[in-house]
Amino acid sequence: MGSKDLINKVLALKRERNAVILAHNYMDYDVQVVADFIGDSYDLALKAMETKAEVIVFAGVRFMAEQAKALNYDRIVLAPDPGAGCTIADALDVGTLRRVKEEYPNVPVVLYVNSNVDVKALADYIVTSSTAIKVIRRLSSDVVIFGPDSNLADYVAYMTGKRIIKVPPNGKCVVHANYTVDMLREVRTKYPGARVMIHPEAPLNVLRLADFVGSTNQMIEYARNSGYDEFVVGTEIGMLNALRIKVSNKTFYPLTTGPSARCPFMAMITLDKVYRSLRDMVHEVEIPKSTADAIREAFERTRKLLEG
Ligand code: SF4
Repeated sequence: MGSKDLINKVLALKRERNAVILAHNYMDYDVQVVADFIGDSYDLALKAMETKAEVIVFAGVRFMAEQAKALNYDRIVLAPDPGAGCTIADALDVGTLRRVKEEYPNVPVVLYVNSNVDVKALADYIVTSSTAIKVIRRLSSDVVIFGPDSNLADYVAYMTGKRIIKVPPNGKCVVHANYTVDMLREVRTKYPGARVMIHPEAPLNVLRLADFVGSTNQMIEYARNSGYDEFVVGTEIGMLNALRIKVSNKTFYPLTTGPSARCPFMAMITLDKVYRSLRDMVHEVEIPKSTADAIREAFERTRKLLEG
């Protein structure tokens, strides 16, 4: 089946099933084209709360679909490929987090949204790459347990001046952790008029040389509102699709097209799998109610802190 036929079939099935498709910014172009909403994982989980659709297809990796289920417990949430993990989320298990909590009993636990639901249920606060600094600054404690991304932990420590206890010590993204200062120097020579945007899951020595550090959504806003017309995009290469759809009047170049450009887990979510998940109503995400309740409470606590 050609891509256009498949797109039409997905759109027809979406109506038939009263479904919405939420697609992460890193998805293939054809998956973003059939989506009702495109955004980062947190955005999309919130979008899911606004929709009246009975079925939510989450075109992203597993922890994102599980998070959407936690925040929308009464809905049917489908994960097109439940085998799609994330090296950051999979770096932290419940036993490790419990041990660190016992070692530092009165220290708040702040977890990055890229964590699996069982550990997320043990967090006091859940943050995105765009809210981590603000949340940690607002906590009265000068020491914070933070994980699972080690580079984001370094960046947060650098920006807030607080002592960050990393849990685990070395959680890394298979894409961003491979960015180097040499890559950045190379694109500056190749595209001298472009602004360089880098995701905070990259190493701190690279972030310190960027023109802009931010989450995928912050990159979209920055590119849209900036007086510049050209940008180097230092995040997963699928992001170029989102930028070309949402900021179509500007030009974007990838930081790298090498082996670390594309996340192998994001690449597992194809239009064909989105189609099959809707056609066969698979794979439905199931998580314990108590886990979903604990995650919602942590999200709510975080929201109050940010708004307070
Ligand atoms: S790009 Fe990195 S953070 Fe995102 S899913 Fe892949 S491994 Fe995880």
